[in-house]
Order: sequence, then C-alpha cells, then structure tokens
Amino acid sequence: MDKLVIGNWKMNGRRSANGALLAALLGETACNRRGVSVAVPAVYLADVAAQLAGQSLTLSAQDVSQFADDGAYTGEVSAAMLAEFGIEYVLLGHSERRQYFGEDNRLLGAKFDAASNAGLVPVLCVGETLAEREAGQAESVIATQLEVLLGRASGHLVIAYEPVWAIGTGKVATIEQIAAMHAHIKQWVLQNAKGADSIRVLYGGSVKAENADAVLSTPNVDGALVGGASLNASAFRKICEAA
Ligand code: PEP
Repeated sequence: MDKLVIGNWKMNGRRSANGALLAALLGETACNRRGVSVAVPAVYLADVAAQLAGQSLTLSAQDVSQFADDGAYTGEVSAAMLAEFGIEYVLLGHSERRQYFGEDNRLLGAKFDAASNAGLVPVLCVGETLAEREAGQAESVIATQLEVLLGRASGHLVIAYEPVWAIGTGKVATIEQIAAMHAHIKQWVLQNAKGADSIRVLYGGSVKAENADAVLSTPNVDGALVGGASLNASAFRKICEAA
C-alpha cells in the first residue's frame, strides 16, 4: 500500500495564502497525487474544495462533531456536512484537542462512528506525554487510547502515532522509538480490533524535509502526519517525495 501523507494546517492560514500554498502543491507531482491530503480549518473547506476539484491531492478535516444529525449544536460541523465537500480523512483526537478540549475515548468513539457512517475515514491520533514515556507508561497509554477502536475497526484503519513531546517541538522520536511503537500499535490492532481490512500507522511529530527519508523508511511507518512543515510548499514537497 502506498504511504499516506496528511498535512495538518491546524489553526493557520488566510484565504489568499491558502490559495498560493495550494497552487504550489498542485504544481508538484509528488504532492498532487493519491495518498496526499491536506487537513484545513473548517472555515476554508469550501474554498479549498473548489481549488482541489478535479485534482488528485485530497481534502481532509481536522475534527468532526459527534452528533450525526442536524440540530441544536451551536458551533458544530457534522460529518454529513463535511461529506458534502468530498473530504477523505478526518483527524480525531489530535493531542491538542485532547489537551485543550478534553477529548476522551467516549467522545472520540462517537466522533469515529459519525465520521465512518458518513463515509469519511477517521485518523485516530494517539500519543504519550514526556512524563508518561519517562515513567515507562508509553505503551500502556497508547493501548488505552486505542480502545476507541474496540468493536469499531473495519475497512481501512488509519492511526497516527504522535508523541506529544515531539509535536511542534523540533524533537523527533528516535527511529528505534518510532519502530517499536508502530510495531506495538499494529500488534494491538491485530489482537484486539480484528475487523480491519488494512491498517496504516502514520508517524507525526516534527517531521520535516531533513528527517522525512529516515522517518518514512522506518519499519511499520506507513506515512506521516505533518504539522508545521505542511505550511511550507517546498518542505511539504520534500516530505511527499520521501513517501
Ligand atoms: C501535528 O500537528 O500533527 C504535528 C505532527 O505537528 P508538527 O509536525 O508541527 O510537529
């Protein structure tokens, strides 16, 4: 299976800058192909969907409401609404959402169901803090976060391993740490979430042009979730080339 690269713009961008960044990515065969996607702020989905129409680079969302139907949920964006824009992937449980919005397994399970039922592919983000890693709890923390998948894993499962201490810090996990955790995640899924047809485990955490080759050639790394470097066309292109 091809490696998958998703650029997570987070809460960045303005309409004109987005247009210029996308135009640069669309001009690069390494980026404008299946297996590369950009997760943009909800308010820009319509603009970006229009610009990506007929192209191979796909559009993703950074979050989705747990409420499937329309209704009195002020501020929320439902999976059915996202589906109208041809969204391919939805990030779920990014560590920033766990930290600032208190997202937990119960909520993420409901969001997972809402996304899958609307035909979107959820990307479940998991990751331990530095304190948890130093306390020798990294694997058990990840296993607990993966419990969202119990009774849910079906079709093409995508998980992003993003150690919290490596996100936006410039600190990349070592190749050995990445390989070991990705193997642990795949083993957990094979043992506990047997319904999946395929499993892809992406790595995220300070992936940039300089380390993309090493990260993406690590065993059991099936792609990358890229934050900061996805805002720079030339850095993102190099990461896409490494995939
Ligand atoms: C992310 O936000 O998912 C991420 C990995 O960020 P960065 O690449 O900036 O560390």
